[in-house]
Amino acid sequence: MKKRTQSASEEKILKGIGVSPGIVIGKVALLERERTTFIPRKIIAGQVSSEIRRFEEAIETSKKQLEEIKQRVFAKGFRQYSYILDVHLRVMEDRMLHGETITMIREKLVNTEWALKATLDKISEAFDAIEDEYLKERKEDIRHVVERIQNNLMGEGLGTIEDLEEETIVVAHDLSPADTIQLNLQKVIGIATDVGGKTSHTAIVSRSLEIPAVVGLAEVTSYVTGGETIIIDGGEGIVIVAPSPATKKTYQLKQRHYRYLERELLKYSTLRAETQDGHYLTLQANIEILEEIPSVIQYGAEGIGLYRTEYLYLNRKTIPDEEEHFQLYKRLVEEIAPYSATIRTIDLGGDKFASHIELAEQMNPAMGLRAIRFCLMEQDIFKAQLRGILRASAYGQVKILLPMISGVEELREVKAIWDDAKDELASRGVEFKDDIPLGVMIEIPSAAITADILAREVDFFSIGTNDLIQYSLAIDRTNQYVSYLYEPLHPAIVRHIKGVVDCAHKAGIEVGICGEMAADPLYTLIFLGLGLDELSMHPMAIPRIKKVLRRSTRTDGEHLLKEVLQFSTARETEYFIRKEMAERFPEDFIQCME
Ligand code: PEP
Ligand code: MG
Repeated sequence: MKKRTQSASEEKILKGIGVSPGIVIGKVALLERERTTFIPRKIIAGQVSSEIRRFEEAIETSKKQLEEIKQRVFAKGFRQYSYILDVHLRVMEDRMLHGETITMIREKLVNTEWALKATLDKISEAFDAIEDEYLKERKEDIRHVVERIQNNLMGEGLGTIEDLEEETIVVAHDLSPADTIQLNLQKVIGIATDVGGKTSHTAIVSRSLEIPAVVGLAEVTSYVTGGETIIIDGGEGIVIVAPSPATKKTYQLKQRHYRYLERELLKYSTLRAETQDGHYLTLQANIEILEEIPSVIQYGAEGIGLYRTEYLYLNRKTIPDEEEHFQLYKRLVEEIAPYSATIRTIDLGGDKFASHIELAEQMNPAMGLRAIRFCLMEQDIFKAQLRGILRASAYGQVKILLPMISGVEELREVKAIWDDAKDELASRGVEFKDDIPLGVMIEIPSAAITADILAREVDFFSIGTNDLIQYSLAIDRTNQYVSYLYEPLHPAIVRHIKGVVDCAHKAGIEVGICGEMAADPLYTLIFLGLGLDELSMHPMAIPRIKKVLRRSTRTDGEHLLKEVLQFSTARETEYFIRKEMAERFPEDFIQCME
């Protein structure tokens, strides 16, 4: 039990790592793992049948579990207690539980977890009205049954937040990417967690969903119990619990100012990402779910540079089949037309786990069975995705991107599977484009060092700086204790990027960056100098990058790069670049005080 050192009414300022900008003021919803909680999530009409299927599968799994427990109870000679399990099994068959939940999914278009919770509430109310004590107690049986179904629905997921109020700020020890992706966007306006780093996937998802977030606060959960007012300043990495009226007022003003700046920046979204001397960069968006496409368009991205398809595998018990992949990617390419969508094949593992895919417990998941390694082992799962991508290519512009390639041998293995997938479709007479550009992520040092070899066998490179930094500097990107070592401007990283760009261009292929560095305007001129062709980032970052490009020249970038390549440490480089950018853009950058 953690010691709460603060009285509820005392203002407490905490400093963490700001991972998603914006200022919000709201009430705390404290997520404690011990308690099962639920978040309502809207679904679209096309998802109704798959939600109902999830519900029915969860019931089947629950029944199987109960039967197994019953066998064990019998085997141990505790026959007399098995009637409780029989009651539970009968509740599983209950028409009201089934019917109400399914009707709610269909009519209210909500996720199964929430529909089931609402049904339970309704049944509980009915039981509360009954006078009979015995019958009243049966309510508990139903609650237990529902809890079991919920657990099976969620796999290892978080569950959700009960009685979520408007303007809620979720405070938790940790949130997995799977948890974050299912937050109710209408209600959750901010996130604060004890653990986490800047490029953890939870941070990335919160940025994509435009939810201001601060992670790595060490013990924010110790200072709240739920319901208190809290301020999140995602830009500065500050969280204020129980703010005084004066502090609240200050932040309300700051919030207004921030929103004004955002609106001003939005003006750049419709302009070209072109320098004053006519050099043009393609700015694209990173997305995790298709619901982000409207904001991709709003912020002026020219296509999707990275679609992280692994999110399709989270928060569910079944593995998507070819048809599901196809339908989703078809929608993606149609909605993003006339631009292209770069679909990255599954990157599960690391800090992203699917509850239904058994990955052996690994000492070090970031270096374990992750991404392409998993796909090469589970070729049926991989091929279903490849066939889905191929089929979608008949409806728009698709590119395919392979994560975690460590060398050319893995690439060749994938190409053989890719050819098999094509043959399978051709023999079924299914239409697809035969010339889909195939690229690799450069995110493992071995790939960066052998970029010249890889460049001969692919159509494009996309540099994943999040992992490239993690693996080059040997720091866990999700660990707040080593986040101070996460140095994008470390000479090793700058040299890696330079080497990769040079190899790509020598081979005549395009190269972009899709890691979080691409979204930070501090680095834009360096990338311009390095000659990157493309930058892909969370949509909201695009106008800011356009602003920097439109007010600079390619020569500015080349001059800055020359200087940057002279420095021996990230600190020196950052000091230099911050000073330069603050002079060029005084309203956007603050100088380092050294
Ligand atoms: C990266 O590693 O930079 C990247 C873009 O991929 P992810 O963040 O999904 O690992
Ligand atoms: Mg990566």
